Amino acid sequence: MTSRYFRLALTGHPLGHSLSPVIHQAALASTGLQGEYSLQPVPPLEGQIGLEKLTAQLRAGDLQGLNVTIPHKQAIRDVCDRLTPLAARVQAVNLLFMEAGQLVGDNVDVPGFLAGLDQLSGSPRAKGKALVLGAGGSARAVVCGLEERGWQVTLAVRRPQQARELASDLGHPGIPVITLERDALGALQVDLLVNTTPLGMSPHPAGSPWPEDLPFPTRTLVYDLIYNPFRTRLMAQAEAAGNGTLNGLTMLVEQAALSFLRWTGQNPDRKTMEAAAIAALEQRNQAETA
Ligand code: NAP
Repeated sequence: MTSRYFRLALTGHPLGHSLSPVIHQAALASTGLQGEYSLQPVPPLEGQIGLEKLTAQLRAGDLQGLNVTIPHKQAIRDVCDRLTPLAARVQAVNLLFMEAGQLVGDNVDVPGFLAGLDQLSGSPRAKGKALVLGAGGSARAVVCGLEERGWQVTLAVRRPQQARELASDLGHPGIPVITLERDALGALQVDLLVNTTPLGMSPHPAGSPWPEDLPFPTRTLVYDLIYNPFRTRLMAQAEAAGNGTLNGLTMLVEQAALSFLRWTGQNPDRKTMEAAAIAALEQRNQAETA
C-alpha cells in the first residue's frame, strides 16, 4: 500500500516572506507524513477567479488543505459551502478543508491567539481589562477571542470608523473606542495590552505604537502579534516597566498546528515547528544584514 501524500498550500498576497512552508515542513517531518506546502499567491485583482481555481483543486482532491491570509480572508467566505460558527462570527476564514463533500471555511487565528494568551497570563481563566491596538484583520480574531474569555475590551485605533465597523460586525457595537494617541493611552489602566498594528515590525523595528515619552504602566501584560523581530520595541518598553510579554510566534505556530491536525488527523510537534520558524527567521535576518 502506498502512503498518502498531502498537498497543502497558502494563498494571499504578497506571500514572499511567509514562514508557513518551513513550519509545515517541520510538521510533516515531526509526524513522519509525506507531503508539501506550497505558496499560491493570488493578487487582489484576480481575487474571486484565483480563489475559485484554488478551491476547485480542493473539491477535486488535488489539494488536501488551504490556508488563507490577507487580503482574501473575507472574500474566500463566498466560495465556501459552509462556515464553522467561529468563522461566521469573526467574518474571516483562514483554513479550508473538505468535509462530507462540502468545502468548509474555519478560523484558527482565534484559538491560535488564545494559546498565546494562556501562555502569557498563565491561565485560561485569567481575565480583566484589555486594550487592543488596531482594528484590522487580526484584531477581529483577537477581540473575538478576548470576549469569549470574558475580557472587557477597549480598542485604540487611528481610524475610529474602522473600529466601529469591527465592533458592529462582531455583534458588540458598544465596544469602547479611543484614539491611538498619547493622552488617550495615558488615561487608561489595563491588565493586558495586545498590539495588532504592524508598528515595530521588521524592517522598521524601532517603531512602537506606545509613545516614547509616555511612561509604560506597571501590571500590564503585553502580547505583540509581531514575531519579527522576536522582541519588539513595545515589548522592550513593557519589560522595562516590569511587565510580562509575549510575541506572535506562539499564535503563528498554533494556527499552523491546528490546520495541520485538521487536514491530516495527526497532531504535529509545536516545539519542532517553532524551532524551524526561528531558524528560518534568523537565517533571513542574517542574509539581510550581510
Ligand atoms: P491589517 O488588517 O492591515 O490591520 C492592521 C491595523 O493596524 C489596522 O487597524 C491599521 O489601520 C493599523 N495600523 C497600521 N499602521 C498603523 C500606524 N502607522 N499607526 C496606527 N495604526 C496603524 O493587518 P493584520 O493582518 O491585522 O496584521 C497586523 C499585524 O499582526 C502584522 O504585524 C502581522 O504580521 C501580525 N499578525 C500576526 C499573526 C500571528 O500569527 N502572530 C497573525 C496575523 C497578523 P489602517 O487600516 O488605518 O492602516
